[in-house]
Amino acid sequence: MSQPPGRFAQHLATEAWLVPEIDALLAPGVDLEELAQRAREVTLQRFGRAVRLFAPLYVSNACLSSCTYCGFSKGLDVARKTLTVDEVVAEARSLVQKGFRHLLLVSGEHRVEVSADYLMACVEALRPVVPSLSIETQTWSDDTYARLVEAGLEGVVHYQETYDRVRYGEVHTAGWKRDYDRRLASTERAAEAGVRRLGIGALLGLSNDWRADVRTVAEHAAWLQRTYWRTEVTVSLPRIKPSASGFQPLVPVTDAEYVQAIAALRVVAPEVGIVLSTREPAALRDGLVRIAVTTMSAGSSTEPGGYLAPGEAQEQFAISDERSPAEVAAMLEAAGYEPVWKDAFALK
Ligand code: SF4
Repeated sequence: MSQPPGRFAQHLATEAWLVPEIDALLAPGVDLEELAQRAREVTLQRFGRAVRLFAPLYVSNACLSSCTYCGFSKGLDVARKTLTVDEVVAEARSLVQKGFRHLLLVSGEHRVEVSADYLMACVEALRPVVPSLSIETQTWSDDTYARLVEAGLEGVVHYQETYDRVRYGEVHTAGWKRDYDRRLASTERAAEAGVRRLGIGALLGLSNDWRADVRTVAEHAAWLQRTYWRTEVTVSLPRIKPSASGFQPLVPVTDAEYVQAIAALRVVAPEVGIVLSTREPAALRDGLVRIAVTTMSAGSSTEPGGYLAPGEAQEQFAISDERSPAEVAAMLEAAGYEPVWKDAFALK
């Protein structure tokens, strides 16, 4: 059953927007060099030269939802795997050995294979191993978020993918994720259940108007910060990458447009952490750290079990930056930045 619109959806419909100035920064023809310089100054002022590093840990690629752009989509005939809790811990230990202290558990949406109890067991088993844990899974009820927080979970990531309702319906054709309002309200539910870090984002190239998605994700971040002021908010703007789905972006987003999007977001949302994954190539990632990015993944695998036993299951998408975590950390240090493996919210 579809859920009624949440509080942010109501805000979009009824209130004046909090960051209307982003429209001018996203306009075609903006002076990109000047915008990037402005963003850099804001980043240095607010975040200094610290860049957090984290790794995604894919626990399952089983999925009951059909999303036309994703390599895990239900209808695809790909190698599926759900790790046992022991396998999850072994993957985590291998990442801890590489230096990581913050992991993001990622899965497809499969309520049987990746149930609330399974996730609880993962979080409980990982708590002595990893100081800081977030999840990027299906959306959950308030009670489940509260149980996960009690078990030691810090962060929840739910990308809306596109804020365009019509386009959202076209690319999310079946399953739990098809419910636009459930998805949009999920971060509110997580915050109200005590989650201390919220990650949101849009998948650029999914709709034909990337500017509209960046504008709305900036508004979403500002609204979450104002509404849940004790909670840390991060934003990511991944671009579509090749996957088993064969999906092609409706409108490709160029590198220059991508830099504009991230710099504009930084200027209007100076307190928001900006996350960049290994989807983007090394040179572009290195440049974006100097402008606005404050959190990066490194040495990532997007298949379950991919750190210790690669090649046994389908990856979600292809990565571009294949450098090791140590190489990414060395790049940061050479550029005058401090790689931060463990951050302020870490439990131990
Ligand atoms: S985007 Fe998520 S819900 Fe959709 S097919 Fe991929 S893993 Fe499943």
